[in-house]
Amino acid sequence: MKHQEINKQAVTSSFGAGKLVVLGGGESGVGAAVLGKQKGYEVFVSDAGEIARKYKEVLLKHEILFEENKHTESKVLVADLVMKSPGIPETVPLVLKLKAEGISVISEIEFAAKYTEATIVGITGSNGKTTTTMLVHHILKDAGLKVGIAGNIGISFAKQIAQGAQENYVLELSSFQLDGIENFNSHIAILTNITPDHLDRYDYDFEKYIASKFRITKNQKASDYLIYDADDEAINTWLKAHQTKAQLLPFSLKKELAYGAFLKDNNIIININKDTFKMPISTLAVKGNHNVKNTMAATMAAQLLQIRKETIKESLANFEGVEHRLENVAKVKGVEYINDSKATNVNATFYALECMDRQTVWIVGGVDKGNDYSDLLPLVREKVKAIVCLGLDNQKIKDMFGSVVDIVVETAGAEEAVKVAHKLSENGDAVLLSPACASFDLFENYEDRGRQFKGAVRNL
Ligand code: ADP
Repeated sequence: MKHQEINKQAVTSSFGAGKLVVLGGGESGVGAAVLGKQKGYEVFVSDAGEIARKYKEVLLKHEILFEENKHTESKVLVADLVMKSPGIPETVPLVLKLKAEGISVISEIEFAAKYTEATIVGITGSNGKTTTTMLVHHILKDAGLKVGIAGNIGISFAKQIAQGAQENYVLELSSFQLDGIENFNSHIAILTNITPDHLDRYDYDFEKYIASKFRITKNQKASDYLIYDADDEAINTWLKAHQTKAQLLPFSLKKELAYGAFLKDNNIIININKDTFKMPISTLAVKGNHNVKNTMAATMAAQLLQIRKETIKESLANFEGVEHRLENVAKVKGVEYINDSKATNVNATFYALECMDRQTVWIVGGVDKGNDYSDLLPLVREKVKAIVCLGLDNQKIKDMFGSVVDIVVETAGAEEAVKVAHKLSENGDAVLLSPACASFDLFENYEDRGRQFKGAVRNL
């Protein structure tokens, strides 16, 4: 079937041409609005908050009607189809009302995927989504494939489709995006890991969050693949109790696998085709066990897309990692400063501490989403010489680590935290910002926190 015909069919049979209401005027909402308009929908965008200027300009340019600072029910409930932005919970009264009326409420990914035949690599998990997404994209691009990157990253998937689709897409998929899919499918799905996160959106029920992550495989067929962490308890438990049609490709740091990827004598070994892939982890540009896992997942995805071994190895050796994820900032008086501001939960910080190979001054704290810090105790005991708290409420951190680490200092800003860490560290140490918490008490977001940290380090 030609592209044009598919598009037409999607509009008329699957969705029914008509009124598309977009809830949320951010990157994904405005992208969906532009694509919807292009495909012949009558589009209306409604945002309970203010719509950023750059997005308003796009809507005006495309002559798309919108409202902000309110949802006018009479304009929303007439929709044939609603695209809900991932930031809006399923439980807000308006969404419940739409569902009660039998109106389909989908995510931007679901909407946009209707209009492309591209091969999709979809990546989800609690940690490592962005890194793995960028890594897969990097390898495919190096190999000369026509490939786009979207999802929670950069320009929305819908907008890119509206501008002319690529042959391949690597998509970072949050659980919120996955909650809003019906028919969306990834030919290759990667599930990096599942640890408790965002539970406030899942009735504080870990099982619901796990189920949401596994929606990534719900439409997969026998010709599709699911790459997953075989060391992850939540994933293994789910796989034992449920069916997926996809072919399973596990990766593990802990055990040798007859089929999949594993670690042996500090080499990554992958045996999913006749020609075994082998690469020493010392040749990877990114460090840490978590990145070995991300690399295994990305490499298998690339192999499934027929990328040559040598090309993959070259790409892996020159992938520098992603800003705010264990990013080396500078060495000041023999002390290495590392920015891991994106570590907003305990699991991410676990991997950061794990790969510290020297005595560390650890900057931690912020808004805690119900953290249980006890998993970190052995690593902290072994590697952390001092703790610098960077948050408004540091009581839990002080209670947990006060008896393990001699020095615990409270600070209320990035500059102060860096100055204190500078005083507490000496030649050969590391200073690690890996907060295990969200940033909203003292910063705009994790990027702001990371940038302020880097700025303060450079001013030392
Ligand atoms: P996400 O997009 O899922 O939030 P990122 O790639 O942005 O993931 O990384 C978030 C944090 O988790 C960073 O601190 C990073 O160092 C850490 N991290 C990256 N990959 C993994 C992994 N596979 N397991 C655990 N932590 C990881």
